Amino acid sequence: MSARRVKRLAEPRCDHHMAAAIIHHQHQDRIAVSRRDDPVGEYILPGGHLDTSGVPKTVAMLTCRHLDVPVKKAELLSSEVRDDACSRPPGVGGTGHRWWVFAIETDINPWHRLPDAGHIPGTIATWWLSRIDVQAAAQRSADLATGVLALDEWEARPGFDPAYVRLLAAHGWASLTGGELEAIEQLARAGLSA
Ligand SMILES: [Zn+2]
Repeated sequence: MSARRVKRLAEPRCDHHMAAAIIHHQHQDRIAVSRRDDPVGEYILPGGHLDTSGVPKTVAMLTCRHLDVPVKKAELLSSEVRDDACSRPPGVGGTGHRWWVFAIETDINPWHRLPDAGHIPGTIATWWLSRIDVQAAAQRSADLATGVLALDEWEARPGFDPAYVRLLAAHGWASLTGGELEAIEQLARAGLSA
């Protein structure tokens, strides 16, 4: 039994709601990006399943608190239902999520560093990623989805979890072709761990 499978059995069931925070460091034009705590360690946006908190904005705000980022304004950018898979056992209604995406405005100073400790649950680290590096990581997901990159190459140096790439593209942080986005969405539906 793989490490990923063991982890999956220990997780609660999917509640079909995900919050994602685009936390913009305006001085440096970077966003906060987390690395998932699993054997591959894909990039994701801070946030996660709503679970017991129930309110998407609460999850986004709590995420900022974990990261010690003061929130000036939290604005809902989009809310859409997609049939992407996740690592949890499916709850009622099969797979899929309503994605709640927030833009977080902060008044952090130009030299702000994210804390080494106090990580968001399910992640091992979070740091500020430049626009160029966000694009490169999203392109790596596209290359996996279109077969340019083999799975072992991806696992050695992963990009974004496919489910997040569409959100990044929709909100101006990644630029990919329609064909690449369609291939990534298919991969998000199938699930990388399937
Ligand atoms: Zn889920």
